Amino acid sequence: MSRIYKHLFGPVPSRRLGKSLGVDLVPHKLCPIDCVYCEVGPTTQKTIERREYVPVEEVLEEVRAKLAENVPIDIITLSGSGEPTLHSGVGRVIRGIKEMTRLPVAVLTNGNLLYDPQVRRDILPADLVLPSLDAGDAETYARINRPCEQATFERLIAGLKAFRAEYPGRIRLEVFFVAGINDTADQARKIRSLIDQIKPDQIDVNSIARPPAEPDARAVPFERLGELAAILGDKAEVIASRPRQEQESGIGNRESGKHSQAADAQSAPTQIPVSRPPNPESRLPIPDSQIPIPDPRFPIPDSQLPTPASVSPDAVLALLRRRGCRAEDVAKGLSAPRERIDQLLADLVARHLVTRQQRPDGEYFVIAG
Ligand code: SF4
Repeated sequence: MSRIYKHLFGPVPSRRLGKSLGVDLVPHKLCPIDCVYCEVGPTTQKTIERREYVPVEEVLEEVRAKLAENVPIDIITLSGSGEPTLHSGVGRVIRGIKEMTRLPVAVLTNGNLLYDPQVRRDILPADLVLPSLDAGDAETYARINRPCEQATFERLIAGLKAFRAEYPGRIRLEVFFVAGINDTADQARKIRSLIDQIKPDQIDVNSIARPPAEPDARAVPFERLGELAAILGDKAEVIASRPRQEQESGIGNRESGKHSQAADAQSAPTQIPVSRPPNPESRLPIPDSQIPIPDPRFPIPDSQLPTPASVSPDAVLALLRRRGCRAEDVAKGLSAPRERIDQLLADLVARHLVTRQQRPDGEYFVIAG
């Protein structure tokens, strides 16, 4: 039976980054903010306090062991159950990983601690940093991101700008839109004006797919995301997937959620204003938002698929603790046979450890309670 890791998950096929090995540096769920759309669930402790929440050596030992398994990995991503820069040893983790592998290291961060020069220094050795900016003003920031007192909008913007000035690597800024909160042209224009000052290399436009922290939070329609992306400028790409109904009717890009102008031109009923087509350079040796979705670019040879017995209920629970997933996502995320995952999920539902949630793009499984 394969080893169960405490601090790692995946590798999962990620929409943005390929096969991503997730490294979880903080307990569930520590974050300076509490986004209405968070797929990890509501923040249980809002804080900006940095500590060694989990032992650095333990994390590095797990990464070393995982690499020794020789499973296909494109990138190692610090993300998971909260904000990775809250870990005071994040710099040691990045440097430690880079001493043991040439795989790129990415940091998924909300950017709230970047005002702190030490945090900026800590993550400088990362190859890619993916911060977030969901609001163009403090009022909207309070509504969508619900920060703790110290995580102010002004600090967030100042930190993002300071980081850009110091960091020579690639910054992919995610802008996450939620219907009725920040999906107006006015908000997009304000965000654009901040983007012009922050100067990210790329902007990922996204909206809700998996079960959000606030059940009432709603996704922005795909076409509207295209319009908002156009306002954000030519570095913006919609990375959200079209709803399944549209995919099944043959509209749009089925797999990546990235806008393909060719596909849209052929099949979409209206011209959607979009940004540039997928940029090969940005598809790195490429991890999400850690979204475990099928990705046919990276087929896993049968010889590398685990046997049914080797996929444990704990592995499924470990993945679902990070985010709700569809059965097909779990199967892909764990590189496991679909029949085995269906059995395990049915068993976990029967034991009331997991519940089912119906969403526009299918049935999701989430941790109960
Ligand atoms: S989405 Fe990210 S930044 Fe927002 S509450 Fe969840 S873990 Fe924190």
